[in-house]
Amino acid sequence: MTDADIGLIGLGVMGANLALNIADKGHTVAVYNRTPEKTDSFMQQAGSLADRFVPCRSLPDLVAAIRPPRPIIMMVKAGEAVDEQIDALKPLVAADDILIDAGNANFHDTRRRVDALGTAGPRFLGVGVSGGAEGARNGPSIMIGGTRESYARVEPILSAIAARYEDDPCSAYLGSDGAGHFVKTIHNGIEYANMQMIAEIFGLLRNGYGRSPKDIGHIFDRWNGGMLKSYLIEITGKVLAADDPDTGQPVVDIILDRAGQKGTGRWTAIEAQALGVPATTIEAAVSARALSALKQERVAAAEIYDARHFDGLGDYGVETVKALEKALHAATIIAYAQGFAALSAASDENGWDLPYRDIARIWRAGCIIRSAFLDVIMRAYEDASTPSNLLVAPAVVETLTEAAPALRTVVAGAVAAGMPVPALGAALGYFETYRSARTTAYLLQAQRDYFGEHGFERTDRPGDFHGPWGPG
Ligand code: NAP
Repeated sequence: MTDADIGLIGLGVMGANLALNIADKGHTVAVYNRTPEKTDSFMQQAGSLADRFVPCRSLPDLVAAIRPPRPIIMMVKAGEAVDEQIDALKPLVAADDILIDAGNANFHDTRRRVDALGTAGPRFLGVGVSGGAEGARNGPSIMIGGTRESYARVEPILSAIAARYEDDPCSAYLGSDGAGHFVKTIHNGIEYANMQMIAEIFGLLRNGYGRSPKDIGHIFDRWNGGMLKSYLIEITGKVLAADDPDTGQPVVDIILDRAGQKGTGRWTAIEAQALGVPATTIEAAVSARALSALKQERVAAAEIYDARHFDGLGDYGVETVKALEKALHAATIIAYAQGFAALSAASDENGWDLPYRDIARIWRAGCIIRSAFLDVIMRAYEDASTPSNLLVAPAVVETLTEAAPALRTVVAGAVAAGMPVPALGAALGYFETYRSARTTAYLLQAQRDYFGEHGFERTDRPGDFHGPWGPG
């Protein structure tokens, strides 16, 4: 039987929802999962869409069920599982079949897989999918890397299942080999930064101004109608409104303060460092999760430094809330700027010619970092000359000039009160340094020359020079 339009391997959270989404758009999907019981329960829950699935017990069955040339989506755990699937599929598929890795692959793995498959086939697309379970079911943001020819063949299905922003599908071809997975990685890095900065602003309201989670939830709800409008602000408002059914306490008060991570934020920090791109806010957010994991050490250190209670942040009023909103807005802009700077460097390094405007466009719906600010980023990249950094794009300068003083005030207040704001502080530090025509890096050069005879350039004439300090 070779009737299915497409195959999908991996009926976990993402795969099952993606399969339902594809079927919803009228396609027949052959599905396979390593653990067959999951295929059975998937079919039981498919309801009226069940007729559009061909449940398969083996990979040969799956391949046989798809009409050639076959597109096959792999939505399995990233890493070795993907290599195993490719190895198992290779002898079963034809050269013009397309394997689509839709998981959160490291883009280096995607490049390696593309190289290994070479021209002999099958073809390969590395596709970043964002939006969690809900996005996968109702429309994710889809970031595609590979050859344009392979993309053209699956474009109708991918565009149909993608989220829509004012009827515009949030799905785009971004470049060759690992481009899609790299963009997804940076998406997640920005996500880490935004989440951490929201948590820090929450912390100031909760611990510095003594507001209740519900009060703060209302503040976030209001912010979601303004400059901060975004999915993460929206869900934070909802999270803060929720009570724990067992204790009646706000849910956030009973959740252990140890954040998990699967690695994509860390990859962003690693890749940014490898590219020589400062992404300090994202790095701070990744490190904040790592610090959160040191629960026992933190509890012990809190005893030693008597840091269980912070000094309050002083008077609280309408102006306080406005300053916090502006500070978060400024810091969020800076986090996006760092993410796009990493995209730009990677695009040059890998010859991708990434379409920045399209990236902002497809992040406007379906994905976790969707926000009103992405419209501004789109405008920034519509200008004839691509800005070297979003912070100097005319569309951004006015907003940031207006919001930056609030970021200074908020960070200064937090620091003075002994309250942690690592990501907000890193955003401010980046901004202050980036807008400095002359930093104190000249002193680093002098130190390097002193101990390592590394030499330095002078401001007044060209050449390589050493200081008058003799051997270090
Ligand atoms: P999940 O619910 O844990 O499901 C994992 C799937 O991978 C299952 O179908 C599992 O099969 C399969 N699998 C694991 N190891 C395998 C192996 N060695 N061989 C064959 N199949 C294997 O995970 P998920 O959340 O759907 O995530 C799937 C992918 O999407 C991951 O790359 C993830 O990073 C990415 N992603 C997740 C999200 C999210 O919000 N959850 C968002 C975007 C992207 P069994 O049932 O047999 O174990």
